[in-house]
Amino acid sequence: MPESDSASKIGLSDMKLLVANRGEIARRVLRTAQRLGVPTVAVYADPDAHAPFVSEATEATRLGPADLAQSYLSVEAVLTAARRTGSTAIHPGYGFLSENADFARAVVDAGLIWVGPKPEAIDVMGLKTDARRLADEHGVPIIPGFDSSQDDGDLAAAAATIGFPVLIKAAAGGGGRGIRVANQPEHFDAALHEARSEAERSFGNGDVIVERYITRPRHVEVQLIGDRHGFVVDLGTRECSVQRRYQKLIEEAPAPNLTDETRHGLRDRACRLAEAIGYDSAGTVEFIVDDNTGEFFFLEMNTRLQVEHPVTEYITGLDLVELQLRSAAGEPLADYLSDINLVGHAFEVRIAAEDPAEGFTPQTGTVSHLRVPAGVRWDSAVEAGTVISPHYDSMIAKLIVGSSDRTSALALLQSALDDLIVGGVATNTGFHRWLIDQPEFRQGRITTRFLDDNPPPAPRVSLEAAGELAASMWIADQRMALEADVWSQSTDFRVTPTGSTQQLFLRHHSGEVVQVDIGAVGDSSLTTVSLSADGVAINVSGSNHSYQVVSRSEMWSSAGMLAEADASAVVAPFPALVAELPVVAGDRVQAGETVAVIEAMKMLHSLPAPGSGVIAEVAVAVGDQVDSGQLLIQFAELGNNEDNESAP
Ligand code: ADP
Ligand code: ADP
Ligand code: MG
Repeated sequence: MPESDSASKIGLSDMKLLVANRGEIARRVLRTAQRLGVPTVAVYADPDAHAPFVSEATEATRLGPADLAQSYLSVEAVLTAARRTGSTAIHPGYGFLSENADFARAVVDAGLIWVGPKPEAIDVMGLKTDARRLADEHGVPIIPGFDSSQDDGDLAAAAATIGFPVLIKAAAGGGGRGIRVANQPEHFDAALHEARSEAERSFGNGDVIVERYITRPRHVEVQLIGDRHGFVVDLGTRECSVQRRYQKLIEEAPAPNLTDETRHGLRDRACRLAEAIGYDSAGTVEFIVDDNTGEFFFLEMNTRLQVEHPVTEYITGLDLVELQLRSAAGEPLADYLSDINLVGHAFEVRIAAEDPAEGFTPQTGTVSHLRVPAGVRWDSAVEAGTVISPHYDSMIAKLIVGSSDRTSALALLQSALDDLIVGGVATNTGFHRWLIDQPEFRQGRITTRFLDDNPPPAPRVSLEAAGELAASMWIADQRMALEADVWSQSTDFRVTPTGSTQQLFLRHHSGEVVQVDIGAVGDSSLTTVSLSADGVAINVSGSNHSYQVVSRSEMWSSAGMLAEADASAVVAPFPALVAELPVVAGDRVQAGETVAVIEAMKMLHSLPAPGSGVIAEVAVAVGDQVDSGQLLIQFAELGNNEDNESAP
């Protein structure tokens, strides 16, 4: 693409761009603006004051406290920041206010350039119910479903008519939230309740759609780009079928293994829909492709830049943020897009601070070390030293690789994941490395159900064995008297036992304390390791463990606390916000019954009663921010569940 001819400079020359987002996408947008010579403004909430995106902008201004409603989701705070800094344009990134039509209108009304589609397009695609209707009207196939009443009985009746399994999903949904599957009629009411309450909390709108659940679903989407002069084209397909909890994990472009008929059908219908609404920016139409039949159905249209846009940039050689900025500035895009060639194959892997060995619970902490392999695109929110707070999404980076064809791109991805080291916090890197070895993935035949049907294997190493490894690393490091922040990597690390009977206490990130007899530290193989003055992060057989080295006295106090908590209480497993407390003191609950729902990094987690018993105290209130290990629910008396008691 021509970098900046004189004509195009005019369109962008007055721009001062405020990026109303954070993390990797804020940095991504800043990069292009800077390349085009556009001055930039970063806005941030308090926990992000020292985040890389803040220092990388030309200037930065505070939005407010951590609370989203007072910062990244506050129309008022963002517009005030724009006024204060003399910004002339706003790029919303993805998530947050990016699909909020009222915000887009407010930006335009304030005389600023909105770097996104016209607000009417956001509006019409904002509710999945409206979008379905529109798609249907324009000949885009939709999934058989029901959305004409919100009455529980009507929805249940519709589910019976559609036939189980059904999918219940938030009409105002996004980011995979407010979606539940009901496999049989008995599960419908609970699934409906969960979908509604998550939707209510996430979107302030509890309306749902009941749809037929496609049983071999692939998620394939089409990237679109349009300008303010009626020009719109598609930039090919992306496959996003590797998902967990309806959220994408790995994406690729183009989507593999589609017949020409399906591929052309998808691209054609996506363009048709975009043309019908005069779409004038970057956007994506998402489809479900039934892998059994090749049939495809409209899912939704995302009227913004997508997380996975880099894979399309790889195969087109285009910069989608540049095209968004030019379109917003009123430039015609036809010249830039007259000769689109889709060349090569690209993958993107979403690196999240989540621990696969612990049910993918979100992790907080400080990134102690970072090693990014050469030859990859690394769109990241973090640098060594960045603190990952519990307030936002757990995605911390995207690893993107591309090559001439799928096989060679896959080989690059494999070695990149082998070489990537994110130290100090557990991430899903090892899990991704396992995933891309699965035959279904290698063949490009994965469905969105894959991870439900093929859960990742339990880590083959015990906490103790991993602890021994961590200890051996730490000891070796101490012995070599290396600098505090040194890291090392080894595929087959061996330590020579000291012969002494010294003991070391390590606290695993789950809170559990492991006692390691140093004399027993043997040899094992591990893939990645990082070390700091008081801790070790290791990846063993695809699972991440981080340990803090603790003294004997610390060990006893924390172990004591944990032991007591385990027996008769429910504690927060990680830093979170208390979302729901379905019980009060005096309630009698059964083992496994949900006694608290907490939210961290945009996901809800239900915490079950550890046994049957009576609740003595609910120690927190809805809306409280709680720390890892903090007491939530105290039981007065707690037994095993009733069945066990009466068992012989
Ligand atoms: P993509 O298809 O680009 O992955 P997602 O739907 O997964 O898009 O969402 C992208 C990001 O935006 C995610 O981090 C998600 O948490 C966030 N997000 C999506 N929709 C919303 C919404 N309505 N409100 C807040 N955040 C959202
Ligand atoms: P969101 O706005 O949260 O992204 P989508 O409608 O795009 O919601 O759905 C998210 C994911 O849920 C899809 O990528 C797909 O994996 C799955 N999904 C949605 N609808 C269905 C369906 N009817 N049958 C099977 N899977 C579905
Ligand atoms: Mg979607």
